[in-house]
Amino acid sequence: MDRLVILVPAIMQAAFFFALGASVGSFVNVIAWRWPRGQGIVHPASRCGACGRSLVWWENIPIASWFLLRGRCRSCGVVFGMSHVVVECATAMVFAGTVLLLFAGPFTDVLPAQTMWWLRLGAWTSAPTLLAVLTLWGCLLAVALIDAETGFIPLGLTSLALGVGLACMTIQGFFVPDSQATLTNGWPTGVLSPLWIGVGLGALLGSVIAGILLWKGWLPRSFAQVDPIADVPPSIARTEVLKELIFLALPACGAIAGGILLRDTQLPIPLQALGSSGLGMTVGAATIWMTRILGTLAFGREAMGLGDVHLMAAAGAVIGWRDAGLAYLAAPFLALTWVAVSGGLAKFRGKTARELPYGPHLALAVVVVYLGRPWVVPAARILFGIP
Ligand SMILES: [Zn+2]
Repeated sequence: MDRLVILVPAIMQAAFFFALGASVGSFVNVIAWRWPRGQGIVHPASRCGACGRSLVWWENIPIASWFLLRGRCRSCGVVFGMSHVVVECATAMVFAGTVLLLFAGPFTDVLPAQTMWWLRLGAWTSAPTLLAVLTLWGCLLAVALIDAETGFIPLGLTSLALGVGLACMTIQGFFVPDSQATLTNGWPTGVLSPLWIGVGLGALLGSVIAGILLWKGWLPRSFAQVDPIADVPPSIARTEVLKELIFLALPACGAIAGGILLRDTQLPIPLQALGSSGLGMTVGAATIWMTRILGTLAFGREAMGLGDVHLMAAAGAVIGWRDAGLAYLAAPFLALTWVAVSGGLAKFRGKTARELPYGPHLALAVVVVYLGRPWVVPAARILFGIP
C-alpha cells in the first residue's frame, strides 16, 4: 500500500512528461528536417511532403496521428516513414524515464548524492534544473539527427542548451531549502569546494571574453582558410592548432586566477551553482578539445569538430563535470558498437555500412550515462577506478 502511494503520483507524472516528450520530439523532427534545408522553423505550417496539403490539427498529434492515419497521407496516400514516429517515441520515453529516475526513487541505494537531491526537493522545487535537463535532451536529439544527416552541428542549438543550462542552474541556486544553506547536501552538477567553484567561474568568464574577442575578429579563427576534410601538411596543422591554443589561453588563465582568488571564499549559493555548472562546461569542452588538438597534430587534418566541443560544453553545464567525463569515456564504446552492428547488418544485406559522425555518439553517451546511472556508476567504478 505504501508503495502504491508513492507509485501512483510518479506514474501520473511520468505520463505527463511522456506526452510533453512526444510534443518536443515532434518539434525536434521539424527542426531536424527544416534546418539543413534552410527553411523557417515556425512557418510554413506542417504539410504533406508529397502533395503539399496542409495538415489539419488531428493529423498533427505526436505519435497518435501516425497510428490514426496508419502512416499514410489521406489525400495522396504517400507512406510517411517510420523515422518521425520513432523520434517522437524516443523523446517521450527519455522524458518519462528521466522523471521516473529522478522522482520515483526506485534506485535510491545505488545512486550518487546528486540524484538524492532531486528526490528530496521534488519536481516543483527542482523545476529550473528539470527544465535545463529536458531542454538539453531536446537539443541533443536535434543536434544528433542533423549531424548524422549533414555532418554539421548547428551551434544555435548547442548554445540554446548551454544558455538555458547556465541560467537555470543559477536560478536554482535561489530555490534551495534553508537546510541546504551550502551545496554540501548534493547538487545536480556536483558539490565543489570554493577552489573548484572559483576554477569554474574563472573558466566561464575567460570563455565569454575569448568568445567576444573571436566574434569581434580580434582573435584568429582556426581552419578558416583550410579545407577541413582535406589532409594538410603538419606545418599548417600546427599553425591552426596554435590559433586555438591562443583562444584557450583565456579560459585557462581565468580558471587559474579564479581558483587562486576564490579558494577561501564562500560565495552566495547562486554563484556557487553557476561555478559548478561552469566547471561541468569546462570539463565537457576540454576533454573533446584536447582530443581534437592531439588528433589534429597526429593525423594532419581537423580531427573532431568544434561542434562536438560545443555539444559537450552544453551537456557538461547541465549534467556536471563527473557525468560529462563519464560520457566522454563512454562515447567511443558506443561508436565501436555502432560500427560493429551497422557493419554486420550491412554485410548481411549486401550494402555498404553508413558512417556516422561523432556527434550522435556523444549525444547518446550523455543520455545513456544520465539515465543509466544506477548501472553506469557501479560499472565506471570498476572500469576506471572513479570514486
Ligand atoms: Zn499527401
